Amino acid sequence: MTSEQLFYDKKTGFDRLTDEDKQGIQTYAEGYKKFLDESKTERDAVLEIARMAESKGFRAWTRDDTLRPGDKIYRINRHKGIMLAVIGNQSLAEGVRLTAAHLDAPRVDIRTVPLYEDNGMAFFKTHYYGGIKKYQWTAIPLELRGVVCVCENGEVKRVQVRVGDKPTDPKFVITDLLPHLATEQMTRKATEVIKGEGLNILIGSVPSETVDEKCSEKIKLAIMEHLNREYGMTEADFLSAELCCVPAFNACDIGFDRSFVGAYGHDDRVCAYTEMMAEIDNKNPEWTSVVIFADKEEVGSDGNTGMHSRFLEYFLADLAEPYGVPVRRVLSNSKCLSADVSAAFDPAFADAYEKQNTSFLNYGVCVVKYTGSGGKGGTNDCNAKFTSKVCAILDEANVVWQIGELGKVDQGGGGTVAKFISELDVDTIDIGVPVLCMHAPMEIIS
Ligand code: MN
Ligand code: MN
Repeated sequence: MTSEQLFYDKKTGFDRLTDEDKQGIQTYAEGYKKFLDESKTERDAVLEIARMAESKGFRAWTRDDTLRPGDKIYRINRHKGIMLAVIGNQSLAEGVRLTAAHLDAPRVDIRTVPLYEDNGMAFFKTHYYGGIKKYQWTAIPLELRGVVCVCENGEVKRVQVRVGDKPTDPKFVITDLLPHLATEQMTRKATEVIKGEGLNILIGSVPSETVDEKCSEKIKLAIMEHLNREYGMTEADFLSAELCCVPAFNACDIGFDRSFVGAYGHDDRVCAYTEMMAEIDNKNPEWTSVVIFADKEEVGSDGNTGMHSRFLEYFLADLAEPYGVPVRRVLSNSKCLSADVSAAFDPAFADAYEKQNTSFLNYGVCVVKYTGSGGKGGTNDCNAKFTSKVCAILDEANVVWQIGELGKVDQGGGGTVAKFISELDVDTIDIGVPVLCMHAPMEIIS
């Protein structure tokens, strides 16, 4: 046998793509960029996925509803997660084919008591969400998205907040210190260049003209008057609100050849978009297919919208009930692709990677057998047989793919939702798109 037959060599996708393929990729990316701009939070993404699914014949499904092969259904979890399913010809006893991506992305959350006035300016205090380099979030335009629940005549009303995404909208910003005065700041560790308590968002400076002798904070008052006019809220409504700041720039092409997409939230909306597009065009599958869009992956998958909750299990139990099949049998016969991004090799930081075991841009989707850190801690180490089978399916379907791991051994590490699905006795493997600048306000994919 020749070395070509015996060796595993990574190959760039460009050797295999026709001009038609390349055109198809660009067209597909246009739809993806629109999805990204619409879906900067998990809530927005859930609405967008439900809207696109409905346009392709999916219906909201409850456990009292009927089910027939070919049916297309979805279920939303507390506005922050969603699952789509297409019912297959086989009984649920044969298991389902799962794909799981997450919709949340690192960002800056507004705190429960956020508003204050300081030296002629008003600010929101924040608590950052997920693993960010805090210094990357200063001096860039931010927009405000989320939901406020206000009580009207004894009834709770949800009000959507979305400021900064329209060209005429104002935007927000976290300030940084000018380099002229930053001698001390520049000697700090990168984790402390901007401290957690320093991520305060500038939101206004004009004092209220309301005559209110008891009030010494006239700028804060003006902000509350504005919010009350716009959303009917008082300061106490921040206590329950879910508001966050996300980058106020839209997805764009990067490079003379437009070969990259730069955008906020590729992790993991690039996998969410692709699994959504695959599922909404899925017709009469042999096995029931279920695609999951989870929340809270960036903070450990906890809570009732994270992948560690029972939401998936209960949904599958509901699907299996009409077939008289116990959910444990469904799970044990199920297979799952945990679709999450991988860290693409970056020559500027070559030292963090081990080239032989890392993923590269343009070398296709990355299969990750195991994740974890410090000796594979917290990993879903996919078994050899299922790994081999998935790789064979990719080859057979002529998919451009590569194997990869997250950086050098002992360099750091991370996990995905894979371990929470595999602990339900489901064969699960990680697969996803390589990303540069992961968790930065602007991430890059090819
Ligand atoms: Mn991710
Ligand atoms: Mn992430």
